Amino acid sequence: MSQDFIPVNTPLLDGNEAAYLAECVRTGWISSEGPFIKRFEQGMAETAGRRHGVAVTNGSVALDIAVHALGLEPGSEVIIPTFTIISCAAAVVRAGLVPVGVDCDPATWNMTIEGVEAALTPRTRAIMLVHIYGLPVDLAPILDLARKHDLKVIEDAAEMHGQTYRGAPCGSFGDVSTFSFYPNKHVTTGEGGMILTDDDALAERLASLRNLCFLPQQRFIHEELGWNARMTNLQAALGVAQIERLPRTVEIKHRIGRLYDEHLESVAGIRRPVPRTNYADNIYWVYGIVLDDDVPFDAKEAMQRLAKKGIGTRPYFWCMHEQPVLRRMGYMLDESHPHGERIARRGFYLPSGLALTEAEIARSAQALKEILA
Ligand SMILES: *Cc1c(COP(=O)(O)O)cnc(C)c1O
Repeated sequence: MSQDFIPVNTPLLDGNEAAYLAECVRTGWISSEGPFIKRFEQGMAETAGRRHGVAVTNGSVALDIAVHALGLEPGSEVIIPTFTIISCAAAVVRAGLVPVGVDCDPATWNMTIEGVEAALTPRTRAIMLVHIYGLPVDLAPILDLARKHDLKVIEDAAEMHGQTYRGAPCGSFGDVSTFSFYPNKHVTTGEGGMILTDDDALAERLASLRNLCFLPQQRFIHEELGWNARMTNLQAALGVAQIERLPRTVEIKHRIGRLYDEHLESVAGIRRPVPRTNYADNIYWVYGIVLDDDVPFDAKEAMQRLAKKGIGTRPYFWCMHEQPVLRRMGYMLDESHPHGERIARRGFYLPSGLALTEAEIARSAQALKEILA
């Protein structure tokens, strides 16, 4: 990568990360049996006010195991946002369940209560809430509906470490809530994930599913098929150091959002992220924009033009109801979700990593202005 290319993400690892990793190497605790695992699980549970944390290898497998652990009857429907990552739909399908999509709000890019109500059928058994890009889902009305219809709630908080909804932490709202620790997430372990719950029995089941469902009393006999999704002590060591700096991380993210807003305030042709709603301030996991309809090119072309100016970007998610793999399997065939379809084609995000400098933000914003001029 050339010196002046600004990558879409660069993590910050200048706290206790190196010291804790060195401790793993010095003590020989590098497998999933080391002491940092428990510390990291407890630390994450604490940040979201939950009783239990179960560390796993990534956020996608966290969803796989979380959905599977709910034990829903095969063929049951699970409501998901269509505008999300494939991991959400894959977890539902792999558990033998049927994904039913909901469109997103055109301003917050999150699923809405109106969408969930329209997707509800007598076969619905669960709702997967996925907070997108910086603002949480407006949860209260959806959680009310879930209670009324006795639906399980899976909360994917992968992009929301340190974010709150009406003052309560994201990651505290699902029967199971999941996180990812991929390098662009607010807490990273390189690769990694976590499942949180308050239910003691469910926590035990999640831990067993993560560890191949070994029977505690007889190790190599199995009543059920599980995963080897064990996180290593090395990853957890990074995670413990990353949690220590989470409040600072949240501050940096807010600052990045504010700076981009200042630079782009008067720029025509784009929709910027909503800075706040009555339930949350934007945490700017990424700084995403959507091109207005009168801009004569789409996100793909905009990203190519920015790349030529040395600016790294990422496209938005591509809707689940437009995924070839899901359609081939017969899922979501009759769905159409105009807001999601539109932002998938006209949205992308600018460099948003924690190590981004003010000068890099200014340069990225300037490049965007130039391609729109
Ligand atoms: C990153 C992400 C995931 C997947 O996490 P991985 O650790 O990359 O597998 C799942 N859901 C959402 C909303 C994400 O942003």
